[in-house]
Amino acid sequence: MLRIQNFIGGTFSDAASQRCLDNIDPSSGEVYGAIPDSDQTDVGLAYKAAAEAFDSWRQTTLDQRSKILLTIADLIDEQAQELARAESKDNGKPLKLALSVDIPRAAANFRFFGHAITQFASESHESTGQNTLNFTLRQPLGVVGCISPWNLPLYLFTWKIAPAIAAGNTVVAKPSEVTPATAYLLAEIVQKAGLPPGVLNIVHGTGNSAGQAIIEHPGIKAISFTGGTKTGAHIARTAAPMFKKLSLELGGKNPNVIFADCDYQKMLDVTIRSSFANQGQICLCGSRIFVERSIFEKFKNDFVSRVAQLTVGHPAQDVYLGAIVSEDHRDKILHYIAVAQEEGGRVLTGGHKVVVQGHEKGFYLAPTVIEVKRADCRVNQEEIFGPVVTLMPFDGEQEVLNYANDVPYGLSASVWTSDLDRSMRMSQSIQAGIVWINTWMNRDLRTPFGGIKASGVGREGGFEALRFFTEAKNVCINYKTT
Ligand code: NDP
Repeated sequence: MLRIQNFIGGTFSDAASQRCLDNIDPSSGEVYGAIPDSDQTDVGLAYKAAAEAFDSWRQTTLDQRSKILLTIADLIDEQAQELARAESKDNGKPLKLALSVDIPRAAANFRFFGHAITQFASESHESTGQNTLNFTLRQPLGVVGCISPWNLPLYLFTWKIAPAIAAGNTVVAKPSEVTPATAYLLAEIVQKAGLPPGVLNIVHGTGNSAGQAIIEHPGIKAISFTGGTKTGAHIARTAAPMFKKLSLELGGKNPNVIFADCDYQKMLDVTIRSSFANQGQICLCGSRIFVERSIFEKFKNDFVSRVAQLTVGHPAQDVYLGAIVSEDHRDKILHYIAVAQEEGGRVLTGGHKVVVQGHEKGFYLAPTVIEVKRADCRVNQEEIFGPVVTLMPFDGEQEVLNYANDVPYGLSASVWTSDLDRSMRMSQSIQAGIVWINTWMNRDLRTPFGGIKASGVGREGGFEALRFFTEAKNVCINYKTT
């Protein structure tokens, strides 16, 4: 049994209440560990440790911070196998995906911000004629809260923590209670890398208890949150009246728009990935596929026959889809498949549970393609966050733009076309924070990352993240002394 502990002030400990939560392996449906069921007492202790560490951490040189972040990155690389095994078991994702995407990206996050902080600069404005020079001091905020979801556990946890500590803040962080394992291993890594006690504090437990205590703690100056839109709205309601800085990366219902003039084979290969990578549990997955009518039937046949061949199985095996993260989530996805059918949608492949021999109690689902009749049906409007995509034909650019934009969300979009003019027109008109033309999930960590509408507020990535985790103070000097 894996026994996970909190990491507070550089020390590992159980929840003060001694209460624990079960940690379930989604590939077998069995309990394989316990995590602390932390509450406001534990968050209070974590805050105290972070506040005590802040004064000295903020005064470290950029070079000292950078070196520690780069060491953390190297240690993640060294322990990649162990971390990937832990991630795969905890989340149900294929081991090869954890090894090729999640863990390398976690290392890249620390490496990127370890370098970025040495290049971060602020502005100065000389007011000619007034003999004044204004310059912007960018100072760390203090103790900040970082809360992340279960779909890309270490990848998203480190995407927040790395810029926060690079900018000189100290952190109280909470991973999802559903996937706590790699955050626990990260605590050992940061300790080994020489991060001073209290700079990063990791509190495990539920959103309602540990998470809630973080967002309402009066001393925590900012909340960087990635998760569902409903939770994001709740966090905003709680934290905004306390004037905390907020970065909210929320849900998506991303369109994948395919024009007949695209590079067909490349589009087909990437569309398989953008639909079903990580069991479709990536906020950036293209869950609504719109195809120009002249190639709709061909696409439908080719896509469905490729999807029907995707392997589903135990995540440690060489499979395309592993297990869904939890029983509740699997049932929610099945519910949406039923809703689609009630609304007249036609399941072209999948739509059912998969029983994996030897792991009969695991949470497996077949990749599912549903042909829908209307762009505004529920499965096209509400986030399912699983291996389910819808298909619909379209005739013209304006029509598909209406479909693409007619959702509450606005995280990302993919457009497939070889027409440069059209790619620009679509990029300008699609309501999304990220538009990919002829590609998907192609990430440069320097670029701004985030959504509009119900997909969130604020941007992560590159200097945007360092700006979020610092407060700008203008200093105005009158340099004429006589
Ligand atoms: P949730 O919103 O349920 O949870 C996210 C995190 O918030 C978890 O750590 C959760 O804890 C915590 N939490 C829950 N309630 C509270 C609360 N009252 N106060 C503070 N923290 C709380 O999302 P999921 O974990 O289910 O993740 C899936 C969602 O995340 C999807 O909607 C997906 O689109 C979105 N997402 C967005 C991304 C983006 O960049 N825009 C990227 C990845 C995912 P616990 O798990 O313990 O309940």
